Amino acid sequence: MDSYDYLVIGGGVTGCALARSLALKHRGAKIAVLEKEGKVAFHTSGRNSGVVHAGYNQKPGTLKAKFCVEGNRRLVEYCRAKSVPVDESGILIVARAQAERATLEELLRRGKENGVPNLRIVDGAEIKRLEPNASGIAALHAPSGSAVDSAFYVEALADDARTAGVEFRLGEGVKRIDERSESYEVRTTDGRLRAKKLFNCAGLYADRLAHQLGAGLPYTIVPFRGEFYYIDEAKAGLIRSMIYSVPDIRYPFLGVHWTRTVHGKVKVGPNAVLAFGREAYGTYQVQPIDVARMTLDSRFWKMLAGADFRRLAGENLKSSLSKTAFLKQAFSLVHGAEAKDFKKGPSGIRAQLVDTEGKLVDDIVVEKKDNSLHVLNAISPGLTCSLPFADHLAGQLD
Ligand SMILES: Cc1cc2nc3c(=O)[nH]c(=O)nc-3n(C[C@H](O)[C@H](O)[C@H](O)COP(=O)(O)OP(=O)(O)OC[C@H]3O[C@@H](n4cnc5c(N)ncnc54)[C@H](O)[C@@H]3O)c2cc1C
Repeated sequence: MDSYDYLVIGGGVTGCALARSLALKHRGAKIAVLEKEGKVAFHTSGRNSGVVHAGYNQKPGTLKAKFCVEGNRRLVEYCRAKSVPVDESGILIVARAQAERATLEELLRRGKENGVPNLRIVDGAEIKRLEPNASGIAALHAPSGSAVDSAFYVEALADDARTAGVEFRLGEGVKRIDERSESYEVRTTDGRLRAKKLFNCAGLYADRLAHQLGAGLPYTIVPFRGEFYYIDEAKAGLIRSMIYSVPDIRYPFLGVHWTRTVHGKVKVGPNAVLAFGREAYGTYQVQPIDVARMTLDSRFWKMLAGADFRRLAGENLKSSLSKTAFLKQAFSLVHGAEAKDFKKGPSGIRAQLVDTEGKLVDDIVVEKKDNSLHVLNAISPGLTCSLPFADHLAGQLD
């Protein structure tokens, strides 16, 4: 039976960045990454907005706030050094009505406390100078916001880890984990193996693996799909950077925004719709086993019963079922495109943690149980936070 000092489950950005950190920290240790798909970044890490967040959204004191600003700086430096496409074009959060000004001020306050560089509020004329097709009464400008090819970035992390000696066991999923006296016995789709220390970075399935070892028991993951539209390439010149609306800061989701990708395309999204399955990427796709498990869970029903959730769900469901409703949000930010210019693109799914009260948990949660560590709720900006977060995780099981 193969035996490892450190076993990482999940080849998303969290698992690949962690494997790299572990290999650099424990030279000569036997380390493996187990990934159920045939390649890394197959799920959330390769299906996101690709925005390197600046760090103004995160409430000071949270883990997200702790890692976002450093994560932004390090990710951009890393990508430059490794020739991973990254575009430091900046982010503009546009207020369209006076009522949104207070939130802009709050984001400015958060950003300053979190250490976001060169953050400032600009007026309508400055918005036009920065983004001629956007309009609003004021905006928060974060020049350190960038765009990255997230799958390319995760592949670079995995290559680094491989070079440092990490074994990637792709196409091998974990079925069951049992604790033995000095190690864990892991049953996979290909056989059995042993690990002295185990890191669970399984994204949408992290709660189920954690529960097998008695960790994360108060929580369950509820999948929220984020859908994107791509604009016709002829209209890609409409924007120069990333343009967001002012978010409702009571929720962990940021709302539909415009992103100029590193490949010169423009994508708009994502919304946040309850998905009927943890990998139900299509609008009408249903995974019956996931739905059955969800509906037998009291935390799910408590979440549905919450007034905040019902309002959020209503608005987002409309934008999922109707292109017109989706584009109404998009057109309120940027002018110059028509419905016919937009085509639906691949969606991504957020692994949103829900607690015993049915509340959507709004920070990264990491739980340690004996010699295992469980990353629950690696929500946005998990891509941005990845490098400092990985260093933090790598030190937790010493
Ligand atoms: C729509 C959307 C937009 C986003 N936009 C941004 C953004 O612009 N900027 C940003 O910073 N963040 C963003 N995020 C968040 C970011 O994408 C996530 O925080 C990050 O990708 C989480 O990575 P992960 O490695 O934890 O999970 P994943 O990428 O899901 O990786 C987990 C891996 O574990 C594997 N796995 C699962 N179960 C098993 C098993 N039993 N055995 C073996 N392997 C298993 C899966 O196949 C998967 O590859 C966005 C997320 C979404 C959904």
